[in-house]
Amino acid sequence: MKLTLFARLFLGYLGIFVLILGVSVYAVIELQRFNNITRSVLESDTRVLEYEKKLTDVLLSEIRYERRFLITKDDALYDQFLLFKSDFELFLDEAMALADARAGGFLTRVRDSHQRYQDLVDEEVKYLKAREDYPHEHYKQEKDKVADRITGELEALAGYSQRNTYGKIQKLAEAGSNAGRVALLITGGALVFVIAISFFITRSITRPVSLLKRKTREIAQGDFEGELNIASPPELGELAGAFNSMSRKLRDLDKMKSEFFSSMSHELRTPLTSIKEGAGLLLDGVGGTVTDKQRKLLTILAEESERLIGLVNSLLDLSKMEGGMMVYNFEPTSLAPLIDRAMTEIAPLVEAKRIRVEPKIDKELPIVKVDGEKLLQALRNLIGNAVKFTPDGGTVTVSARQKDGVVEVSVADTGPGIPAENLAAVFDKFQQAAFAGSYRIKGTGLGLAIVKHIVTSHGGKVWVESQAGEGSTFIFLLPA
Ligand code: ADP
Repeated sequence: MKLTLFARLFLGYLGIFVLILGVSVYAVIELQRFNNITRSVLESDTRVLEYEKKLTDVLLSEIRYERRFLITKDDALYDQFLLFKSDFELFLDEAMALADARAGGFLTRVRDSHQRYQDLVDEEVKYLKAREDYPHEHYKQEKDKVADRITGELEALAGYSQRNTYGKIQKLAEAGSNAGRVALLITGGALVFVIAISFFITRSITRPVSLLKRKTREIAQGDFEGELNIASPPELGELAGAFNSMSRKLRDLDKMKSEFFSSMSHELRTPLTSIKEGAGLLLDGVGGTVTDKQRKLLTILAEESERLIGLVNSLLDLSKMEGGMMVYNFEPTSLAPLIDRAMTEIAPLVEAKRIRVEPKIDKELPIVKVDGEKLLQALRNLIGNAVKFTPDGGTVTVSARQKDGVVEVSVADTGPGIPAENLAAVFDKFQQAAFAGSYRIKGTGLGLAIVKHIVTSHGGKVWVESQAGEGSTFIFLLPA
C-alpha cells in the first residue's frame, strides 16, 4: 500500500493515541470496579455486622425485661420491654434495607422467630391480665427455643457477612494483581507497537532519502548512470522521478559538453594554428617580398592568433577543471627543475624588458607528489604574470622552501601591486587587468583561476599578498 508521508505519520500517531486511550480507559474501569467493591464492603457488609451486634444486644435486653416483668408484674418493665421490641424491629428493617439476598434470608427468619417470640409473650401477658393459670414451663421452653433460633440466625448472618467481606477483599486483591498484569501487558504491547511504528515510519523516510543522497553524491562525482527507483512514499517517489529526469538531462548535457570540448579543440585550434603558421610563412617571405606595412599587419595577425590559441587553450583547460574532467597524473617530482623550466620559457620576455629574475630555491627541497605538467602550467602563469606586470628594469623573485610539513612556493615582483579590495577577486575567472590601473596589459583573465584549480587539486592553497604600488607576492603551498 502506497501511503503518503502525511497518511503514515497521521495513522502512526493515531494508533499511538488509541493505544494510550485504551490503557487509560482500562485503568479507569478497573479503578471504578475497585471502588465499587470497597464501597460495598464498607457500606453493606460491615454495617450488616454492626446491626447483627445491635440486634443481639437489643434481643438480650428485651428478654431480660420480659423475664423481670413476668416475675414482678411491674408495668414499667413491660413498657421497657416494648421499647426494646420496637428498637429490634427498627434495626431489623434497617438491616433488611442493606442486606443482599442471602443476608435477607437470615433476617427474614429472624423476623419470623421474633414475631413468634412476641406472640408467646403476648399470650402470657393475656393470661396474666386475666389472672388465669397457664403452663409457665411450656412457654419458658418455647421462648428459649425461639430466642436460640434468633441468636443462631444472627450468628449465621455474622458468619456470612464476615465470609462475604473476606471474599470481596480476596476478589479485590486478585482483581488488583490481574489489573496490574493486564496494564503491564497492554503498556508493554503499546511500547513495542510505538517503537515498531516509529521505526517503520522513520525507515520509510530515511531509506529513500539516503538513496537520494547517495545518488546525488554519485552525480556530483560525475556518475550519471543508473536511475533511482523509489515507489513509496508517493511524495518521495515523485521527487525521485523529478530527480531521474534531472539526472537524464545532466547526462545529456555532460555528453554535449564532452563533444563540445573535442570539437572546440579541433575546430578552433586547427584553423588558428593554420592562420598563425600562414602569417609566419608570409613574414618569412615564402609568398614573395613583404612590404613594411604588410609586415606590420602580418605581425599583428601572428600575435593575435597566438593569443587566441592561448585563450582557447586556457578556456578549454578551465572548463575541464570546473567540470571535474581534468585528469591528474600525480608522481613523485622534484620542484626545482620545474621552476627552472618555467623561468627559461619566459627568458625572451625577461631579456626584452631587462627584468632581473632571482631564484631563491632551497637546496633541500623535498620530493613532492604532483602532476608535473599541471604544476608547470601554474608556475608559468604566476611567473608570466609577474614578468608581464613588472615594468622594465624591475625584479621578480621566485622562492621555494620547506616549512611545517608543506612546500611553499612564492613569486614576488616589483610591479604595480593590487589594491586591497581586489585581492580576493584576482583568482576569479575573467577578472583581468581592470585592477592593474594604468597597466592595461593584454591577458585572458583565466590564468589565476587555472592556478587556483591546479593548486587546490593538489590539496594545497594559493593566495596573494600585495599593496597598490608595492609589488605583489603570489604564494602557494603544497603538501610535502
Ligand atoms: P590575465 O590573463 O589578465 O593576466 P590572470 O588571471 O592571470 O589573467 O590575472 C588576473 C588579473 O590579476 C590580471 O589581469 C591583473 O589585473 C591581476 N594580476 C595578476 N598577476 C598580477 C601581478 N603580478 N601584479 C599585478 N596584478 C596582477
